[in-house]
Amino acid sequence: MVEGAIARLQGLGDGPVWQPMPEAVKADFTGPPPQSPAALDRVYADVTQNLYPYAMGNIHPRFWAWYMGSGCLTGALADFLAAIDGSNLGGGNTGANLVDRQVTDWLRQMTGFPEGASGALVSGGSMANIVGLMAARNAKAGLDLHHHSVAEIAAPLRFYASDQVHACHMKAMNLLGLGGKALVRVATDQNYRMDITALRAAIRADRAAGRTPACVIATAGTTNTGAIDPLPAIADLCRAEDLWLHVDGCIGAMFAIAPENRHLVAGMERANSLALDLHKGLHAPFDVGCALLRDRRIHRATFAEEAEYLQVATRGLAAAEFLHDYGLETTRGFRALKIWMMLRHHGVAAFGRILDQTIAQARHLTARIEAEPALQLMAPTATTVVCFRHAPAGMNDAALRAHNTEIMLRLQESGVAVITDTTIRGRHCLRAAICNHRTRDADLDLLIDEILKIGAEILTP
Ligand SMILES: *Cc1c(COP(=O)(O)O)cnc(C)c1O
Repeated sequence: MVEGAIARLQGLGDGPVWQPMPEAVKADFTGPPPQSPAALDRVYADVTQNLYPYAMGNIHPRFWAWYMGSGCLTGALADFLAAIDGSNLGGGNTGANLVDRQVTDWLRQMTGFPEGASGALVSGGSMANIVGLMAARNAKAGLDLHHHSVAEIAAPLRFYASDQVHACHMKAMNLLGLGGKALVRVATDQNYRMDITALRAAIRADRAAGRTPACVIATAGTTNTGAIDPLPAIADLCRAEDLWLHVDGCIGAMFAIAPENRHLVAGMERANSLALDLHKGLHAPFDVGCALLRDRRIHRATFAEEAEYLQVATRGLAAAEFLHDYGLETTRGFRALKIWMMLRHHGVAAFGRILDQTIAQARHLTARIEAEPALQLMAPTATTVVCFRHAPAGMNDAALRAHNTEIMLRLQESGVAVITDTTIRGRHCLRAAICNHRTRDADLDLLIDEILKIGAEILTP
């Protein structure tokens, strides 16, 4: 299986990025649970024949859909070893526990967070944001939410985020019992960065109306356009207004290790909480994210509950701090091992260089788009996301939407490259999110060629 996996990675660029699963193959995935055993090589053959060809494609050099990393063999081997080790990272006096602690501390240092800050490895960015926002809510509630309910909070809490914020924050508001209206959407400027004047005005209006401004959610790298909110100015405002600063760094936090671009996220280290997505920026196999909290005491106070069957001991297996006191899950897998082995094997500098390379590639793609009269850049390229469309003369926005959607679908079905789309300020566009260490400039040149070709084919069938 290991040899097969390596062979698969070596031949990646030759096959299609993605292809739809034929109906006959789909039929293999219906039917009752198997009652009797089958030979493992027979089961494995089904994986290679019926599953491998129909994967997401994000490990392929020409995959730029949504926003996700493209994998790492060392990380995959580490996941295997972690599963064999079998340790439960809810806690316990184990080597795995120490690796987990070391990894969160490495991430703290890599992002410039202060010594003493705490961290929790979680399933990804959404959960890392929830951990940070729950700590913010509890710190600002004015009463102990281990005993009281959200309804007893004296004045309704308000969280602020830009109109480009990721949808997981709406889920978080729902989960935290605050409701969607607790999340105030602040307007963005022409670069899709949070408008600090609008933020200040929103905070003032809420105070005047008797509500409690609690937290600003700044985004370091928005999903739509890769924009980075003005972090130093937001941090200043949060300090002046005594607000919790949470930074959603799922896309951008790891730029802190990229020598040519780390200045873009300066100020991030002033946050009270920071969400990292390591299956994006570090290309770790799914799934792994990390929440970093400036104040370890608040972090633990938010999540720790008393349980008579979970008591720390001075000796033996329970003689270690319980990690489940820093998040929502009790049992956690040994996610730390893949980060630990990846960073040790390749070194932080290599991951930093990849991030610089990715940003340079987004600029290269942007320059190619700007040089093509038939293409139109739809947002300034801030970091790693490029928004554009094929824009033949004489088409209105509705026709352009249909035209570009068809280009996107034909491109995906061709297997040559995969991108997706979005809508920014009401205008539809194609979106290439470059978070791929296997991509070369020539792959992006091919993307441009294919889009021009498909666009022309649609116009003159
Ligand atoms: C990807 C992303 C998330 C969600 O992270 P998951 O790992 O998919 O849960 C949150 N915020 C931003 C800005 C993202 O790009």
